[in-house]
Amino acid sequence: MPEQPQILATLKEYFGYDTFRPLQQEIIDSVFAGNDNLVIMPTGGGKSICYQLPGILLPGITLVISPLIALMKDQVDGLLANGIAAAFVNSSQNQEEQQDIYKKLLDKEIKLLYVAPESLSFLDTIFSQIEISLVAIDEAHCISAWGHDFRPAYTQLGYLKNKFPKTPIIALTATADKATRQDICNQLNIPKAIQHLASFDRKNLSLEVRPGNKRIEQIFTFLSDKPNDSGIIYCLSRKTTEKLAEKLKDKGFSAEAYHAGIDHQKRSQVQEDFINDTLQIVCATIAFGMGIDKSNVRWVIHYNLPKNIEGYYQEIGRAGRDGLPSSTLLFHSYADVVQLQKFADMSGNKEVQLAKLDRIKQYAESLSCRRKILLSYFGELIEKDCGNCDVCKDPPTFIDGTVIAQKTLSCVTRTQEQEPIGTVIDILRGAQNTAIQDKGYQNLKTYGIGKDIAWRDWQQYIIQLINQGYLEIAFHQNNKLKLTSLSKKVLFEGEKVSLAHLKELEKVKQPVVIQ
Ligand code: ADP
Ligand code: ZN
Repeated sequence: MPEQPQILATLKEYFGYDTFRPLQQEIIDSVFAGNDNLVIMPTGGGKSICYQLPGILLPGITLVISPLIALMKDQVDGLLANGIAAAFVNSSQNQEEQQDIYKKLLDKEIKLLYVAPESLSFLDTIFSQIEISLVAIDEAHCISAWGHDFRPAYTQLGYLKNKFPKTPIIALTATADKATRQDICNQLNIPKAIQHLASFDRKNLSLEVRPGNKRIEQIFTFLSDKPNDSGIIYCLSRKTTEKLAEKLKDKGFSAEAYHAGIDHQKRSQVQEDFINDTLQIVCATIAFGMGIDKSNVRWVIHYNLPKNIEGYYQEIGRAGRDGLPSSTLLFHSYADVVQLQKFADMSGNKEVQLAKLDRIKQYAESLSCRRKILLSYFGELIEKDCGNCDVCKDPPTFIDGTVIAQKTLSCVTRTQEQEPIGTVIDILRGAQNTAIQDKGYQNLKTYGIGKDIAWRDWQQYIIQLINQGYLEIAFHQNNKLKLTSLSKKVLFEGEKVSLAHLKELEKVKQPVVIQ
């Protein structure tokens, strides 16, 4: 096992750093001690050094399994530039290139070998002739169906431990809740792996969620005090990225779209310009940002609701890597929720996806410190409210909402649970449109009993009732409002309901868009 001074000298010589970041030292010591390790560290935390540095000092080869084929070349080029003997193997190479790597491996000219999981069989013929000192599995959450980015090719990695029982494995990921962590260890056959959990708290990132109406105008307002700051806007669809980039350009911003449908050359150009600060804004689908090392991204906007907290956290994590204050803004709309539910319905593991969607929805609709919710999702509890999220900065006050709740719930009862929010509000406010009249709703007892409250305020209140579980939206039945088991407590058992007081509407944190 290398001594401390040699480890520090290596850190300086190959990476140019004088000190380790939190956890790096203890992880590296644990690798040298021969343990299996699971590292959970947020994006930008410095995971790579945890296997690259041991890779340099260990006698044999360090295998690095990574799904990010598109980034392998850049990663390896970076290592080579630092004087580290690295190479990669993936499906993009021809036979000649692969032969060359075989030779170098046999001649012990390679210390770090990056391999896509699909390409591992490449090594079968020479495994017995080379010495593998360490196996690093990057983006390890891909092995778990509990994770958010399951890759079937990862499931076969469990055999590595059987094949090399004495070689330590280090699995690394930026995102894994408790269940996923356990699953990773089980699947990789490293039940005794030492888990290293870095703090996920990125205090320099402010968190904000806003209703997703008039998003473009909200973005212009958001940008008004950031005329030159680099930022990323994540969108759900390719079309949105393009439309948005156009609108930003029309306003005089430097902006480009980025998604998997854009040709390779143009994409590289966008990435390069963004890194070099000649392009200010990238409107991207999730394909953008993996592996980008840009420390001065000052803000991240989610134009659409992400499909889970893992993805959201990873994406906002691309802001403020230099530690300076940076802003994040998430737009929340029910239209997005409906869309994401459809995606989840079509996916292989529907239940998991729907549960994860539910969690991010709860986050977006929270009336308490958002960072607390976010960190508790990753198993980290903070005692104090953070002071750097929109809820902390402007906490709601509560009113007695019992009468509002009673009126709403009895109206839903009288429509036989057959109507969406909009119609229920119309009935409560005594609207006189044909839709109401055709169905004879003007004869209901609840017709017009809520005239005193504005339409949008009703919407806010009803969404709060949904969040508190007094009502639910049947997404698969045209968004009809349905009663829940809690409803009858309010209707028949005198349960009191608290609702957040609505201040000026623009300050309201609840989502209001129902399209
Ligand atoms: P991750 O893989 O966890 O997202 P990286 O390994 O890419 O993070 O590291 C993120 C950035 O932090 C890189 O620019 C890296 O060079 C830098 N870094 C890593 N370790 C240190 C350190 N000990 N001191 C200073 N910078 C570091
Ligand atoms: Zn907070």
